[in-house]
Amino acid sequence: AAEEDRFARLHPSSAALAEQARGPLLAGVPMPWMTRWPGRFPLFFDSASGARLTDVDGVEYVDLCLGDTGAMTGHALPQVTDAIAGRASRGITTMLPSADAVWVGEELARRFGLPSWQLAMSATDANRFVLRFARHLTGRPRVAVMDWCYHGTVDETLAVLDGDRVVARPGALGPQVPVAETTAVVPFNDAEALDRRLAEGDVACLLMEPALTNIGIVLPEPGYLEAVREITRRHGVLLVNDETHTLCAGPGGATAAWGLDPDLVVVGKPIGGGIPCAAYGMTAEVADRLSGPMLGHEIDVAGVGGTLTGNALALAAIRATLSSCLRDEDFAVAVPLAERFTAGVAGVIAEHGLDWHVQRLGCRAEYWFCPPPRDGAAAAAAVDEDLEGFLHLWCLNRGVLLTPFHNMALFSPHHTEADVDRHTEVFGDAVAALTG
Ligand code: PLP
Repeated sequence: AAEEDRFARLHPSSAALAEQARGPLLAGVPMPWMTRWPGRFPLFFDSASGARLTDVDGVEYVDLCLGDTGAMTGHALPQVTDAIAGRASRGITTMLPSADAVWVGEELARRFGLPSWQLAMSATDANRFVLRFARHLTGRPRVAVMDWCYHGTVDETLAVLDGDRVVARPGALGPQVPVAETTAVVPFNDAEALDRRLAEGDVACLLMEPALTNIGIVLPEPGYLEAVREITRRHGVLLVNDETHTLCAGPGGATAAWGLDPDLVVVGKPIGGGIPCAAYGMTAEVADRLSGPMLGHEIDVAGVGGTLTGNALALAAIRATLSSCLRDEDFAVAVPLAERFTAGVAGVIAEHGLDWHVQRLGCRAEYWFCPPPRDGAAAAAAVDEDLEGFLHLWCLNRGVLLTPFHNMALFSPHHTEADVDRHTEVFGDAVAALTG
């Protein structure tokens, strides 16, 4: 309660806007997840630049959320904003491709080792299109996903295991689609369960993150991803790596960092410097089976793409982001900061004799209130919303923003060691207050 009061005292302008917003906006926010931040009402942000965010009360934060990876490379970077402004002044939406599309396709092909690319408005959008293509190519009805995965608001993927049964994910509004009929769900890090399920012959594609990131970071055990590739190939199931978050592993995501060999890859929000966009790439074999029929209009592409898909603004933003701020040299700055965060948090955990744990993937790190879980169900069982909420609010009240989901901190080349140390200090004080 003391932290809630402190939050309210610090943010009178946000409080006034939040009060006004309850009239015109459902739940007082433009998007439901914005209610998930700690505090009695949402903070309204005024500006963000590099690794800093300033709210409407003029309070400045070290931003370790970075738009839940949507601004992974840093906010409002001049190279990106110049490209966006330049493109905006020359027209955005025409239903024709811009020259940037060719550059972006070639660059994504080089990074991910997949030759053929398409654009989408968001990773949700891209995943929906990939599922349609996979069903079309295989003639099979189902998508397979990992238990407690998240791939955006794609109805068929909002499913979890309840024992052996596939049920709607808790909290998903519904009932929407009958997930037991559309979706196969398997536990992460369990190759045998995957083999057994795919042997039933009704799965078009396996859509997965190479490491789970949306229930906290759960890393693949040695040999697991290789087994997944062998099993999917043996059962004729297309393997799709959703790299929306795992782009934190490097400029070519986990696919390039770990030498993976998927049939399709989806890349989402981090590639456009904050502009809504995504892309998906495929092997030559998949492309050959789609491209000819599409050009001959033998495939009716209703259900894939939209008016704004591949718009010139998104392509200019992606080109600027890939060419100037999502490169090896940027990871060479950001990753050591994430390592410093991990060491700092591990120090606090050790000092207090807790069995908590801190996990890292590239420039992203996350702490657990338990030893590292092996799969999504164990990760979900380990979530402690009250403890998480207290730590987030404590940090926010002292100028450090974590994501509203889990205990995630993301590092860009624009953070400094002092930013990391600020978090370690504030986190240490919070843990002392808790255990003290
Ligand atoms: N895929 C993964 C792995 C994600 O983490 C997310 C969002 O966090 C999405 C897809 C959906 O992205 P968007 O909300 O931009 O559609």
